[in-house]
Amino acid sequence: MSETLFDKIIRREIPADIVHEDEHVLGFRDINPQAPVHVLFIPKKPIATLNDLEHADMLLAGRLMKAAADFAKREGFDEAGYRVVMNTNRDGGQSVYHIHLHLLAGRQMTWPPG
Ligand code: AMP
Repeated sequence: MSETLFDKIIRREIPADIVHEDEHVLGFRDINPQAPVHVLFIPKKPIATLNDLEHADMLLAGRLMKAAADFAKREGFDEAGYRVVMNTNRDGGQSVYHIHLHLLAGRQMTWPPG
């Protein structure tokens, strides 16, 4: 797959407000936040969309969710709640083709989403 700007964030070639990093996952604040807290959790391994997730990536997908949940606990909004979203392809509203879990918090979410 072709490079995205998220690869450049991983390599620190463009700046980001990084809130989490481990061997497999990077978490950083969204540049255009849609809630008081809006963090993206991405695998360091580039995977374009959820459709490209392979069986061998299942643990990695879980790592994104665990990193988000740990961040919520650490920041103290785990009990109040939050939303995680993974937009996929055109109808899902995906704009960066390197999978990312959006973590949104700090306001009441609505349903259905727009
Ligand atoms: P999506 O539309 O689901 O593909 O989400 C991509 C997200 O990346 C959007 O919410 C953008 O605001 C965010 N984004 C784009 N460029 C940057 C950047 N340089 N740093 C942080 N977030 C970004």
